[in-house]
Amino acid sequence: MTLSASRTALAASLLLALLALTGCGKDTPADAAPGHGEPGHEEGEDDHDAPESTTITAAMAGQAGIRVAPVVAGTIADEHDVQGLLTPVDGRVAQVTARFPGPIRSLRANVGDRVAAGQVLASIESNLSLTTYTVSAPIAGVVLARQAQVGGVAGEGTPLFEIGDLSTLWVDLHIFGNDTQHITAGVPVTVSRMTDGVSQATTLERVLPGTATASQSTVARATLRNDDGLWRPGAAVKARIVVATTPAAQIVPLSALQSMDGKDVVFVRTADTYTARPVTLGARDATQVEVLSGLTPGEDVVVEQSYVVKADIGKAGASHEH
Ligand SMILES: [Zn+2]
Repeated sequence: MTLSASRTALAASLLLALLALTGCGKDTPADAAPGHGEPGHEEGEDDHDAPESTTITAAMAGQAGIRVAPVVAGTIADEHDVQGLLTPVDGRVAQVTARFPGPIRSLRANVGDRVAAGQVLASIESNLSLTTYTVSAPIAGVVLARQAQVGGVAGEGTPLFEIGDLSTLWVDLHIFGNDTQHITAGVPVTVSRMTDGVSQATTLERVLPGTATASQSTVARATLRNDDGLWRPGAAVKARIVVATTPAAQIVPLSALQSMDGKDVVFVRTADTYTARPVTLGARDATQVEVLSGLTPGEDVVVEQSYVVKADIGKAGASHEH
């Protein structure tokens, strides 16, 4: 992010420096191009209209990372950002207990150890038979807790270890208020770790019937794979639930949007000319926005480094004000 931002800034300053060498653009082909319309250009006229287009050669655009894409139809998503908590899956946590009372002779696993099903975890001397018997793991998993000490006396049914199979986890997402009405099982959800931002796509499996008393939220549950073992029970996570997607006749990425003179604009490219086009916007989601008017499908719109184009148009306006 930082690297790409500084690369972007470098590219932008390089472009502006290159454009500065060509002067204010008065004699460039763009100014001669039909329909260019540069109201601020009349000599001696105190005109508040800023110029709304500029010329950038393909080579300069490439250096500055300016990229265009045609206006297309698409979909706008209804997304909800929520928080949640990781928990072990019910039935995937096992208590390891002593079968017969007696002194604990050995404990062979520690918290955090991975153990196989059937692996011996403890040996205990039975007070009944005076022989030593072993206790093994009922399931494969990770030792979540060790509740006994060597030399201590285990009673019948005393918990010795807690083993959890954490290869999959539940993520319980908290949903508030009216959102409960339209977030339903089956919708896609992307869950992200707070620690390192790693995310995983899954599906909402169910919305639990009750309400969490403390938070007064409804819990929606999904299952996560835990292949790297770094999804930890008890950890808080962020999640984005995509409830619905609505078709839109014209969409542009949010990165295309700029504001000029208080209006939302995008930059339309025709040959080497980039023109600011006021647009009326509709619904938006995290990455894109619906354009209700101002564009025609298929027009090439700047979708990357649009602020460089804005800066260049602004610079052209400044140099025309003398
Ligand atoms: Zn919604």
